[in-house]
Amino acid sequence: MAVYHDAVCKLCRRERQKLFLKGTKCYTEKCPLEKKNYPPGQHGTSRRTKISEYGIQLREKQKVKRIYGLLERQFKNYFEKALKQKGRTGDNLIKLLERRLDNVVYRLGFAPSRKAARQLVRHRHILVDGKIVDIPSYLLKPGQVVSIKEKSKTLDIIHNSLKRVKEGTYPWLQIDKATLSGTFLHIPERQDIPLNANEQLIVELYSK
Ligand code: SF4
Repeated sequence: MAVYHDAVCKLCRRERQKLFLKGTKCYTEKCPLEKKNYPPGQHGTSRRTKISEYGIQLREKQKVKRIYGLLERQFKNYFEKALKQKGRTGDNLIKLLERRLDNVVYRLGFAPSRKAARQLVRHRHILVDGKIVDIPSYLLKPGQVVSIKEKSKTLDIIHNSLKRVKEGTYPWLQIDKATLSGTFLHIPERQDIPLNANEQLIVELYSK
């Protein structure tokens, strides 16, 4: 799992955008970005340097990497995989990231953040097609069902988090709150994925 030693909220402030890294707090007015929408550090409010083309591409890559909670090597591996697939590399990259089990657990509303979703997977609370899968990077295929292990169905974190997501929010996921399960119906189209990012900039960065 990717570990960052900085307070995660600083990462959002650096990108001047909510990356939703902390869970419940991100959806409340306690989110520091509600008040401090400028980069962290002593010169956060005063620094106005012109960002180069490379800098813009780098920031976009850092942003997406942080949203999905990946380290550089892991992220680059997804890019290389996306490059080998047919179609637009940027779209392929985001679609691959969306298929990760930790991401799907988060999207289904079983965890308040991707980090918390990764913990649920690692701690063996999550089933795929009825079997425990404890690998957060596991890539889901259409038709697979993600659910919660019977003994874990009373976990507060799951029930509190479920309130955040409405059934039908994501067209490629069928969420069943009653049984604490969800089906990965199909690989999502890029335009359906709620991710405020320009992945073409990442393609340009890695193509240099
Ligand atoms: Fe980012 Fe969430 Fe912290 Fe807000 S509360 S700055 S969205 S991690």
